[in-house]
Amino acid sequence: MYILYLTKIVMKRILLLFFIFIINSCVSVKVSDNSISETTIKESTPKNIILLIGDGMGLSQVSIAQYYQDTPSNFDRFPVIGLSKTSSATHVITESAAGATAISCGIKAANKTMGIDENFYPVETIVEYVSKMGLSTGLVVTSSIVGATPASFYAHMKSRYDYEEVATLLPQSDIDFFAGGGLQFFNDRKDKKNLLIELEMSGFQVDTMKLPVEVSEKKHAIILGKDGMPKMSEGRGNFLSDATTLAIEKLSANKEGFFLMVEGSQIDWGCHDMDVDYLIDEQLDFDRTIGVAIDYAEKYGETLVIVTADHETGGFALAMDNNDYNKIKPILYSDDHSATMVPVFAYGLGAELFGGVYENTEIFHKMRSLIIE
Ligand code: MG
Ligand code: ZN
Repeated sequence: MYILYLTKIVMKRILLLFFIFIINSCVSVKVSDNSISETTIKESTPKNIILLIGDGMGLSQVSIAQYYQDTPSNFDRFPVIGLSKTSSATHVITESAAGATAISCGIKAANKTMGIDENFYPVETIVEYVSKMGLSTGLVVTSSIVGATPASFYAHMKSRYDYEEVATLLPQSDIDFFAGGGLQFFNDRKDKKNLLIELEMSGFQVDTMKLPVEVSEKKHAIILGKDGMPKMSEGRGNFLSDATTLAIEKLSANKEGFFLMVEGSQIDWGCHDMDVDYLIDEQLDFDRTIGVAIDYAEKYGETLVIVTADHETGGFALAMDNNDYNKIKPILYSDDHSATMVPVFAYGLGAELFGGVYENTEIFHKMRSLIIE
């Protein structure tokens, strides 16, 4: 009896030890699972985000490179495509301030307002958010740097048209590098202030004559046009792609990473003017600039490139000309914005998040979820 009792106890202990062993191995499996998924998340999280906005660029505008240049379009290099719904808080058809605020702040704003919600409360922009995380930030545009699209990344204003007021925000903003037009809002102001001096006092190197060859160690302000930059047809040359190269060179010096917004501002202007040649020139220039961003992401990795639009302009179509299936007639239906969805292209780390059909505000939330680390 006694021997049987002892055997029972030993058996119980063996079973208990076996049970503990099983539990332990389950726990250790679970722990290593966690570390695997953490590594996976880390590996798919970009250090840098380059966001390129073609103002007014719908799918027909994107298709221009396919028919009006001999080299392949850089849009062909994107593995992930989504569609963005562009309506604002107040209107079915948005404009550039509310359109950019959706992307920069993740909220539906009222038309003509920037960086504020419907109750006029300021909302943190992606630039302000990533700056807090230690990233460098930059803006490159062919409009004035105080125009609605770039300003929605650093200003909180009830009206997009208070350009002189918007300019006063730049010296104290989180922007480390910017290039674009708008000189008159800095040095030819009603209040007689010279904001170029204020920029210098805030630690910027300021260039107003031409695009410098080298980036500065300091923060860098490049303001070249009186208002918007010249059109391509007026000799703007490679300003957009060269300034983008310069911005990447400057911002990538930060080991923490960077956020850069580049705008093909005048795609919209060509459509407003109902000038197809103007539109085509500006679209092709934007396409080339996208190449600079993807080349960088391809070479150095760690980077997410997103290309989208704030809205479509003109109801632009590549229609058939004169009943000839081999002839395109590029037509602008109107001289203002439309309600059509706009494409979102993504390349690089985290790109897979951008597939699908969603509201424009999601672009902000997707970017932010990738920077949260
Ligand atoms: Mg714009
Ligand atoms: Zn417009």
